[in-house]
Amino acid sequence: MSTTDAPQLLAQERSSWQQQLRDAIRDGATLLASLGLSAEDGAWSQEAARQFPVRVPLPFLRRMRYGDINDPLLKQVLAVPEEEQVVSGWSNDPLAEVAANPVPGLIHKYHGRVLLLPTSACAVNCRYCFRRHFPYGDNQLNNEALAIAIDYIAADSSLEEVILSGGDPLILQDSALYKLLERLSAIPHLQRVRIHSRLPVVIPERITNDLLDALGQSRLRSVMVIHCNHPNELDDELADALNRLRQSGVPVLNQSVLLKDINDDTDVLVSLQQRLFDEAGVLPYYLHLPDKVAGTWHFDIDEDRASILIEAMRMRLPGFLVPRLAREVPGEGAKRVL
Ligand code: SF4
Repeated sequence: MSTTDAPQLLAQERSSWQQQLRDAIRDGATLLASLGLSAEDGAWSQEAARQFPVRVPLPFLRRMRYGDINDPLLKQVLAVPEEEQVVSGWSNDPLAEVAANPVPGLIHKYHGRVLLLPTSACAVNCRYCFRRHFPYGDNQLNNEALAIAIDYIAADSSLEEVILSGGDPLILQDSALYKLLERLSAIPHLQRVRIHSRLPVVIPERITNDLLDALGQSRLRSVMVIHCNHPNELDDELADALNRLRQSGVPVLNQSVLLKDINDDTDVLVSLQQRLFDEAGVLPYYLHLPDKVAGTWHFDIDEDRASILIEAMRMRLPGFLVPRLAREVPGEGAKRVL
């Protein structure tokens, strides 16, 4: 069934990215109903949604298959009862990020780079998120905390790169992003800024001309790392946005999370790399094994299966289109490439 059969909700006029954020679906029942589904087709969990709210922008919803409870995009965002199960070995902070959090809003794990978390909010709440329990309440980057974080970066001349992460840093208005980039540019030892964002994938309108100007005018070289897990997430609008970003001089890489029953399939993974590059010029970066975060055990894939999938991709793709299979291990100086 095509999306033209979907309720009017799916046929809303294109609007600004801020309006798309406001219009995002925020509960499981509405999400299912928007796709012609009900709780009888698949259980959703109010309790899981209470712990980690449902948030799904309409441009992302429009790429889901109407009437299909097993749609791979829907499964990434629907709060389900499995999330409530307590499973041994799955914790709130499996990456020990709290221990690497020297000042609020900043994580310093690796040599030469720090993560700055300018916001706790995301445009979409991915159920497998490794930061779903991160204590954002203790990490609000208000003006005072931002000044402390900037001082921390300025005081460490070994730092060359700031990674804007989150939450999703592109939730910031372009003017706020511009000011942040200006402050970072004033730190002489910084050379580059990396933006980790899923926002362009779920709301392509986020790639505004003002954003391109802000990135282009900064002294720092910028690179955008998007987060796209399945080829169905790519449509013409997204490809157009990513092409504009690249054509403005910003390299674009993609990182994905390997997710059980969503993208743990050679054809799907091959198609994802091919389409991202052929349609949008995006190169693969990491394919992450899911972190062992409480509430996400049902997405898990073991390393043996992941290695088989990567090997199968190597047989079908040129080397530059094969992502690095990686797992983050707390205390190690870099991601562990498997
Ligand atoms: S966009 Fe990234 S940080 Fe936000 S919920 Fe999804 S995985 Fe987590």
